[in-house]
Amino acid sequence: MTYDVINPATEKVVRSVELASVEDTDAAIARAAEAFRTWRAVAPADRGRLLRRFADAVDADLENLAQLEVENAGHTIGNARWEAGNVRDVLGYYSAAPERLFGRQIPVADGIDLTFKEPLGVVGIIVPWNFPMPIAGWGFAPALAAGNTVVLKPAELTPLTAIRLGELALEAGLPPGVLEIVPGAGTVVGQRFVTHSAVRKVVFTGSTGVGKQIMAGCADQVKRVTLELGGKSANIVFADSDLAKAAAQAPYGVFDNAGQDCCARSRILVERTAYDRFMELFEPAVQGVKVGDPSDPATEMGPLISARQLERVASYVPDDAPVAFRGSAPSGPGYWFAPTVLAPVSPDDRAAREEIFGPVVTVIPFEDEADAIRIANDSQYGLSGSIWTRDVGRALRVGRGVEAGALSINSNSSVRYSTPFGGYKQSGLGRELGPDALDAFTETKNIYISTED
Ligand code: NAD
Repeated sequence: MTYDVINPATEKVVRSVELASVEDTDAAIARAAEAFRTWRAVAPADRGRLLRRFADAVDADLENLAQLEVENAGHTIGNARWEAGNVRDVLGYYSAAPERLFGRQIPVADGIDLTFKEPLGVVGIIVPWNFPMPIAGWGFAPALAAGNTVVLKPAELTPLTAIRLGELALEAGLPPGVLEIVPGAGTVVGQRFVTHSAVRKVVFTGSTGVGKQIMAGCADQVKRVTLELGGKSANIVFADSDLAKAAAQAPYGVFDNAGQDCCARSRILVERTAYDRFMELFEPAVQGVKVGDPSDPATEMGPLISARQLERVASYVPDDAPVAFRGSAPSGPGYWFAPTVLAPVSPDDRAAREEIFGPVVTVIPFEDEADAIRIANDSQYGLSGSIWTRDVGRALRVGRGVEAGALSINSNSSVRYSTPFGGYKQSGLGRELGPDALDAFTETKNIYISTED
C-alpha cells in the first residue's frame, strides 16, 4: 500500500511512500534486534564517533532536509533549518554520552557493589507530524548513544525527513539495522511496536488519546514507555512586566508552526489592570505576523498540515465566536488559517480548555497571583508556559506554583537540547533531552562481588 504525501501549502502530491505492513514491521524489528547484539558492544569512543559522523552528515544535508520539511509539512524555511540543525545538535550532545555512561560503586559490607547502565534492546519511536525531525532526534540520539537500536515510525503525513535521516545514518557508517525507519499507519506499525516482545521500550509523541492506548498496551509486557502528549499552556502576563515585549512576543509563543506545537501558549492570562493596554499592544503584533509561502525566508507562519486539521481548527471559531481580532492568511490552494484571537473568553469555554493545535489563542483576565496559578492549573494538561514579570520573587513563586514541566520567565522558549523537556499530568510521562534522558534508555544493573576469603 502507498500513501500520497501532500504539500500543505499547494495541496499537490509531493511523493508516494510505501507503507509498511505488519510483516515488514516484524522484519525491521528483527533486523534491529540482530544489530543490537553488535551495536551494544561497539567500544564507547567508537559509538560516540559514529554519532558525531551522523551529526556531520545531517549538517552537510541540512538545506536538503529543511527543503523537504517545507514541502512535506509546510514549515517555514527558517523553522525547518532550525529543526534540521536541532537533529545535528542533539546527536552532537549525546555523542559524548557513550563514554560517560557511568555506574556507581556503592559501599557495602564484605564486598564491592557496582552499578551498570545497560541498554534496553530495540526501542520503538512513534513520531507525530508537527515536528517530524526534532522529535525523531530526541528519541533516537539518546537511545543509540546508550547502546540501543531503534525502529522509528514517522507520522503518515510527514515521512520524508525521517526516511532521509535513515539514509544519512547509513552514509555516516552506522551499521544496517541500528536505525530502521518504518513508515506506516499508527494502527499497524505503531501498534506492532507495542505488541512485539522484542521491542523493549516505546517512545510515543502525539495526542493524549493515543498515548493512553499505548500506555495501556505496553502494560501487557510491562514495557517501558515515555509519553510526550498534548498541551494547553498558559502565558501569564503580570501588570509589572515589560508589557510591550510580552505583547510583541506573544504571537510567536502560540502561532509558531501555525499553532501546531504541543508547547503553544494557547491561553494568555493577563492581569486585569493591564488587560486593555496588553490588548492594544497585542493587536498590531498579531496583524504583523507574516503568513504565506513557507519557502520565503521572510514568512513567519505557514499553512496547517492537512484539510482535516483545518476543519478541526475552524470548529473552534464558529460564526458567533468572540473574535477580538485576526491576522491575515493567503487565499487559494493550501490549508490556511489566519492567526485568531478570542477574547474575552471564560476559562470554561471549549476553546480555552481543549488543545486546538492551530493558530487560535484565548485571552483571559486574572485578578492576582493566586488567581493566575489557579486558572493556569485548571487543565488536564501541564506541558509548558511562560511568566512575564519584573519581580523575581513572583516569577519564582508562580513558576513553582504552575504544574508544568517546561516553564520560561520573560521568554516563550521551551526547548533546549541540554535541558529536560516533558509534561505534568496528561501532558506526558518521563522527560526527554538534557543530561538525564539516558536514564530513560537504560536499565540499572547492580552487581555485588564478595571479597570474603
Ligand atoms: P496522533 O496521536 O494522532 O499520532 C501520533 C503518532 O502516533 C503518529 O505517528 C500516528 O501514526 C501514531 N499512532 C496513531 N494511532 C496509533 C495507535 N493506535 N498505535 C500506535 N501508534 C499510533 O497525534 P498527531 O495528530 O500526529 O500529533 C499531534 C499531537 O501530538 C498533539 O496532541 C500534540 O500536542 C502532540 N505533541 C506532543 C508533543 C510533546 O512533546 N509533548 C510534541 C509534539 C506533538
